Amino acid sequence: MAALTPRELPSVDRLLQDDSLKTLPHDLVVHAAREVLDEARQATKNGGWPHALDDLPRLVHERVVRETAPRLKAVLNASGVVIHTNLGRAPLSRAAMQAAQDAGLGYSNLEYDLGEGERGSRHNLVTDLLKRLTGAEDGLVTNNNAAAVLLVLSALAQGREAIISRGQLVEIGGGFRIPDVMRQSGVSLVEVGTTNRTYAADFENAITPNTAVLLKVHASNFLQVGFIHQPTGQELVDVASRHGLPLVDDLGSGALLDTTRFGLTHEPMVQTSIAAGTTLVAFSGDKLLGGPQAGIIVGRAAEIGQLRRHPLMRAIRPDKLTLAALGATLAAYVRGDAEREIPVWRMIATPSDVLRSRAEAIAHGLGAEVVETRSAVGGGSLPGQTQSSWAVALEANSAKALAASLRQADPPVIARIEDDRVLLDLRAILPEQDGQLERAVASTR
Ligand SMILES: *Cc1c(COP(=O)(O)O)cnc(C)c1O
Repeated sequence: MAALTPRELPSVDRLLQDDSLKTLPHDLVVHAAREVLDEARQATKNGGWPHALDDLPRLVHERVVRETAPRLKAVLNASGVVIHTNLGRAPLSRAAMQAAQDAGLGYSNLEYDLGEGERGSRHNLVTDLLKRLTGAEDGLVTNNNAAAVLLVLSALAQGREAIISRGQLVEIGGGFRIPDVMRQSGVSLVEVGTTNRTYAADFENAITPNTAVLLKVHASNFLQVGFIHQPTGQELVDVASRHGLPLVDDLGSGALLDTTRFGLTHEPMVQTSIAAGTTLVAFSGDKLLGGPQAGIIVGRAAEIGQLRRHPLMRAIRPDKLTLAALGATLAAYVRGDAEREIPVWRMIATPSDVLRSRAEAIAHGLGAEVVETRSAVGGGSLPGQTQSSWAVALEANSAKALAASLRQADPPVIARIEDDRVLLDLRAILPEQDGQLERAVASTR
């Protein structure tokens, strides 16, 4: 077959006469036809266009479909990292998604008191659940935990001083640095202690008439080992209450279940911090809580009230889908069903031998091997901690190329490369996704 020359390509108008393109939105199809023809012209000039003239309508059609396809799409997380910051953190439970759908497809009582038939507050929708679960007097929801910390500092300490340990001036990632948030809140930072050792007395000695809060920040994503010391929450509560100051605890992940039950080290729990007497505790909705992106602040009623009235609150309030999904997530904890219903806990709680037999079934279908491996919780929780897991190991001439083609599968599969092999770790794959994973991988081979 003689190579096509640019002169043989049709005009845009001619190409658009094709029946398969007539029903597509005019502007989109014209644009796509121009692009496809431009590319074909370039390629034919340079001596290689891997298509025939008959392919042109299909190429235009595919381009139009691609233009309007959702850019945000579901992927299969075979990386083994349960709370994967780049893959949307916590997957939501069915109940949470159902609640969001119910609230989103129609109207809702978002700010309407059904009893009184008048204006209500969105903030009351989840406060009862938060109070029950954490033992706090009151609670509040923001758009995310970064916003929660910004709000707390702005409301309690603007124009005054906040005292924090040098060992806790952390960067969480994605540009969230505690010292920057403090500056942004108009709070003067008073650093105490040293990088590795800080004592309650360091806080006490730094208190002046201008001190507004004592701040404690969980080292979510790094480990300090060796000659280290940080005051306990209880010691800081004691200092704070002796001086009539609020103690704010940014817990980051904020577990409501005890991680030691799953062979992991202890992740600080919200209930424990509240029980110790912390004034305000802030944590994320989409880390170990396993809900939607949100920031949650629980604590003393007077301070929560102050936050609720702060002008920033309007700018960082959660939307109805978030509140619906969060409410359903919290309700699972109240019923004692979190471990069975909430995906992050289902994944963390799955015994390794269950992952092994699931990996074996998938490997059998693909003609591959299984290997024992280690998975991580991730997402700024339990740094350095891993759980035993099992993976399907795919051999390839180029592991990098195979991983790349898995990312182009439908749905895309995000795998991990280890020792020149591509591993599909089952830890963050739900059992109901096994078939989909096997088919997606098979389609690339
Ligand atoms: C993750 C984290 C944040 C930020 O929370 P987002 O919900 O991601 O905004 C703040 N502080 C700590 C300690 C964290 O671990």
